[in-house]
Amino acid sequence: MPPDSTKRAEPAPETGSILSVAKTERTEATEKTELFSLADSHTHLESSEFDGDREQVFKRAWASGVRYLVAIGSGSGPHRLRAGLEMAEGRDWVYPTIGIHPHEARLATEEHFAELARLAAEPRVIAVGEIGLDYHYDHSPRDAQQTVFRRQLELAEANRLPVVIHCREAWPDCLRILEEQWKRTGLGGIFHCFSGSFDDARRGLDAGFYISFAGPLTFPKAADLRDVAARVPWDRVLVETDCPFLAPVPQRGKRNEPSFVRYVAEQMGIVRGVSAQEAAAATTRNFLTFLGKIRRSGRSAAAAS
Ligand SMILES: [Zn+2]
Ligand SMILES: [Zn+2]
Repeated sequence: MPPDSTKRAEPAPETGSILSVAKTERTEATEKTELFSLADSHTHLESSEFDGDREQVFKRAWASGVRYLVAIGSGSGPHRLRAGLEMAEGRDWVYPTIGIHPHEARLATEEHFAELARLAAEPRVIAVGEIGLDYHYDHSPRDAQQTVFRRQLELAEANRLPVVIHCREAWPDCLRILEEQWKRTGLGGIFHCFSGSFDDARRGLDAGFYISFAGPLTFPKAADLRDVAARVPWDRVLVETDCPFLAPVPQRGKRNEPSFVRYVAEQMGIVRGVSAQEAAAATTRNFLTFLGKIRRSGRSAAAAS
């Protein structure tokens, strides 16, 4: 869940983007299909913003080349811990997480933690998230955020699951907690909608994290963020929409959706000096590697290999 919320709007028609050209080229060869496929590493499709056309949104995602989609399970609060699992139901290309967002840390009860523990055992769950710290909004007191964050790290470790981290204006505390409590597990995870400095990214990389970039990478004023994206090791970069929030240019201001992740991948290609196709292929490959590292047998990750 991100800062800006966006207005509801109809998605624009197909544009002549490089990736859509690539898409039409991948015809027979399965290998080529994989090459140009996209992974959206962070979505909130359970959001009420999609109540009117959710099925169409999934269809457009698939049609645009999205083959892997993470359904974040923090929903609208800890009373909705199954939000990601519900999105994944009947869709084998959707990978659910479970977790309590730092915004709602103040609402977390023992019952919610007990439910999290139960849900962590569900074989399709790929991560605990999004969890972390948000000192920009401070929707929950910081000590409550830290307690709920730490408890969910314990839960993730007990279940051998990686974590999806939300961090805004809280890098010193977030990185300190991860270095104290998480790094040694070797389970890693994803820094989602990354907004920190390269030094923050480097500490995350050292702790085993992938760095995922969202719509802000395409924003005109985000030169610093693009500099960071250019320097993160190529095998640790992911892309995401964080939909319905933060739609990338040229869809900025509209409701975001997974079919727009290609604009983030295209921008990543520009930033890294590679083609859009190569950026899509690399980030998708990285996502598959991330899934492959999830150790628990019988989880959906095994099916992705
Ligand atoms: Zn977030
Ligand atoms: Zn989110």
